[in-house]
Amino acid sequence: MKRHNFSAGPCILPQEVFEQASKAVLNFNALDLSILEISHRSKDFVQVIESARSLVKKLLKLGDDYEVLFLQGGASLQFVMVPFNLAKEGGNPAYLNTGTWASKAIKEAQRLSTVDIVASSKEQGFNHIPKDYTVNENADYFHCTSNNTIYGTQMKSFPDVKVPLVCDMSSDIFSRELDFTKFDLIYAGAQKNMGPAGATLVVVKKDILGKTGRNIPAYLDYQVHIDKDSMFNTPSVFAVYVSMLTLHWLDQQGGIPAIEKINQEKANLLYAEIERNPMFKAYAVAEDRSTMNATFNLVDEAYQDKFDGIWMDAGINGLKGHRSVGGYRASMYNALSLESVQVLVDCMQELEKQA
Ligand SMILES: *Cc1c(COP(=O)(O)O)cnc(C)c1O
Repeated sequence: MKRHNFSAGPCILPQEVFEQASKAVLNFNALDLSILEISHRSKDFVQVIESARSLVKKLLKLGDDYEVLFLQGGASLQFVMVPFNLAKEGGNPAYLNTGTWASKAIKEAQRLSTVDIVASSKEQGFNHIPKDYTVNENADYFHCTSNNTIYGTQMKSFPDVKVPLVCDMSSDIFSRELDFTKFDLIYAGAQKNMGPAGATLVVVKKDILGKTGRNIPAYLDYQVHIDKDSMFNTPSVFAVYVSMLTLHWLDQQGGIPAIEKINQEKANLLYAEIERNPMFKAYAVAEDRSTMNATFNLVDEAYQDKFDGIWMDAGINGLKGHRSVGGYRASMYNALSLESVQVLVDCMQELEKQA
């Protein structure tokens, strides 16, 4: 039996995507060739990447003023590419510090510029999203993290800023409806909600580029990738293919509105149990809790071995919290079923019975 996979990333993908991907490894498009051995410039792969691109635009409801790129280097390379492409020499980008990934993005930007950290929840262990801040109109751009994978917090709204709005959506892209036209640049490592590790999605509004006057190394320059249709160098063919299959699956499910409804049900079910069950307590403040990653702890750590035994026996995988937070983290990405969340809730109730 397949495990209930609550892993934070790489993470669960739809079973039918795994099945289709495994067939393509043996014989892709009846070419009598594996997807792993065809040229990235072949007609068959060009169709894959074009289809992935148009699915991204369709699902996010974006027009032709945006470009969709599939790059490598993960979201971590975007921490570097964003300031290279958008911060002027001597400029002053603004960042919201909501967790480990935001802090890493800030650190990379600081190599190039003085960074204005508009607010931070670090002192409170990143258990909430700061809301009371202003972004300077002269900032090069404003960078935020929509979902804080490690701490289990999520931005429920985004500020209206007069500067380009840049967002790391690695762990909640395609999980909920937003007005994506509000953003000028969105990036996401594929391995949290879109596909396997190795592809990084970048969605950029073309008119924000080319304004810094910087001499940007070719691989780091969005315009170079745009001009070469994401084929400046060999893209991660297999990761792009599997991402395309997952985007297609999502589209077939009814797109983002349909998946958001299920994601909300899953989160409601789990958070209700965390609140109700006296054995557990939530990590993040209620109003900022993530629908993707729920973080929680045992009230009495002495029950850890007992609880771990219960959920492992129930076929659950990947529930341990990030090493920097401890406790538990249940990641409920798009492909995780409501039934899997019910299995976890049953385990929590079983612990309460045994205690
Ligand atoms: C996982 C994660 C990253 C890092 O992604 P890589 O693709 O491993 O570089 C960055 N930001 C967020 C919000 C993440 O969840």
